[in-house]
Amino acid sequence: MNTGPMMSKKSNTDQNSKKINRRQMLGALAVGATASLAAPSVVKAQDKIIWKMAMSWPRNSPGVGVNAQRLAEMITAMSGGRLTVELYAGGELVPPFEVFDAVSSGVAQMGHATPYYWQGKDKAFHFFTGVPFGLTVAEYTGWLYFGGGQELWQRAYEPFGVLPFYAGSSGPQAGGWFRKEINSLSDLQGIKMRIAGLGGEAMRKLGVNVVLLPPAEIFSAMQSGTVDAAEWVGPWNDIAFGLYKVANYYYMPAFHEIGPALEATVNKEAYEALPSDLQEIVKRAVMASANESYADFTYGNIKSFAPLLAKEGVELKTFPDDVMQALYQASEESLVEISATSPLAKEIYHSFTSYRTEANSYAQASELAALKMRASSMGD
Ligand code: CA
Repeated sequence: MNTGPMMSKKSNTDQNSKKINRRQMLGALAVGATASLAAPSVVKAQDKIIWKMAMSWPRNSPGVGVNAQRLAEMITAMSGGRLTVELYAGGELVPPFEVFDAVSSGVAQMGHATPYYWQGKDKAFHFFTGVPFGLTVAEYTGWLYFGGGQELWQRAYEPFGVLPFYAGSSGPQAGGWFRKEINSLSDLQGIKMRIAGLGGEAMRKLGVNVVLLPPAEIFSAMQSGTVDAAEWVGPWNDIAFGLYKVANYYYMPAFHEIGPALEATVNKEAYEALPSDLQEIVKRAVMASANESYADFTYGNIKSFAPLLAKEGVELKTFPDDVMQALYQASEESLVEISATSPLAKEIYHSFTSYRTEANSYAQASELAALKMRASSMGD
């Protein structure tokens, strides 16, 4: 799986078009099965546009692949088929970690992934997936939609001709599976851990040997002892991977992923070539999909939590305070380092962190207080 570029049979549609014009380059315009071979040179209202959506996920993977599929179907249905989105799983059109480049070049008109996969292009992209000790899903969408976050994200992707949209979240993730308990900072020294993104950088600063592995290899690496610890997502996805079979200590919540964001990316030229009603459909369908995705993860995690804890040997843990503080300091250092990489990175850093300070203050009296109130009243 995911071993390289492979054209799907579905892509025959645009190969069959006899005339190549600008719109076809951008949007894989199809003239329909009954149209004559002489394709029109101008897109008409009744013309059908076919977009390819490349995703980083395996087909049908819960929370991500399934939700990308629903998004593709939603855009197709909402547009009455005028904009038909065909989905390509990781490896079908391009490899999973080349989705951004495919959208940038127009090989795909849409992508479904998460921004930190492209942090090699610009470290500031981390802020749009989320950072350690970052924002909850609700706080993050508030910043994006109303606090200038979306505009900053668009500016960050602008040099690549890619338009980003927030496409959902897992909610708070789990900190990972450990084979031995972490009771102090010294317990982290030298252990090998699979952990992605800035969480991995923080762990590395504390002496952890961080190993990057694609999701499909996590279980076997834990089983064979190649790694001592691994984080993936949360109860719903972790139980599916069987990680409880290879480690007992389950640390929750994740310090590094409180509300990590998924993204739907669109080739900017292809988007701008759409009639305005289809542009609005794409934008609003992604917003609807984001909400659906978060609901899907939340429900899946709630329903998987007790069954996971009931598995033999599984113990729920939290990192001790000194480990958490050290992870926080290391993470904040990384953010400052990123802010120094460009003027835009500095602007994003200041916008994000000043909003986070306000959000943290408000949460004490709202979300956090509400959850504590509920827990104490219900006797948990
Ligand atoms: Ca994760």
